Amino acid sequence: MSKNGGWTVDLKEYAHNIRVDLRLGLSICDSTKEKRTNLIKLGNVLTGQMKRSYQISYYKDAYNYDTVRSGLDFYRNKSIAIPVKKLVNVSLSIVYRIISNVNQRMNNEHLLNIVPDVGEMHQYYGMANKLGGSDVLLNESKVDNIIKGFDNNTLPHEFGHTLGLVHVDLNIASSYAKNQQFPIMRQRTKDSTNVMFGGKSRYMHNTTSTTIVPEQIDVIIINYRSGIINQ
Ligand SMILES: [Zn+2]
Repeated sequence: MSKNGGWTVDLKEYAHNIRVDLRLGLSICDSTKEKRTNLIKLGNVLTGQMKRSYQISYYKDAYNYDTVRSGLDFYRNKSIAIPVKKLVNVSLSIVYRIISNVNQRMNNEHLLNIVPDVGEMHQYYGMANKLGGSDVLLNESKVDNIIKGFDNNTLPHEFGHTLGLVHVDLNIASSYAKNQQFPIMRQRTKDSTNVMFGGKSRYMHNTTSTTIVPEQIDVIIINYRSGIINQ
């Protein structure tokens, strides 16, 4: 995993609470000819949208471990698990740098790259290079709506793919994806604002499809530990 760039996922567990820190080191580039985008503004909007989507709090079933002393020579002390509900707080921060050419990215930074609305890109708002990948392409024609707050989905969605999240309505039988579909299948109405619905889903709305559920935070932690993130 990288020291300066890319995602870092930190988990600290205490007696009554758990802290999850998601940190992203990113470079932002406008690769269009006209370079019309205010990249500082975009970086700040990205940070705000990501915080709104990913900084959630919830209770999780966990254990605290305690030692019971037997007080007898022949019986060992016993460690017992005490079930507790711990409050999980997720925080997210982004350190970004503006670069004028994609060659200037360094230290395994992730890249947010604004590209022209042509060719294959014409059909997409944005695109992550792969699951757990480090590049997000953003269609130049969609930038305005993102900055104006009409599109709160595209960036948290694509960066969700860089965290290894798949579409929650993806109909494939892989156990990997099932893990992420489960919360949605169980409570589709409650989770109807999830940020990871696919573009064709009837639940997908640019303005309001923004939320992450606790199960997706669990998936992110597992992905980070198993090396799926920062590829
Ligand atoms: Zn997607």
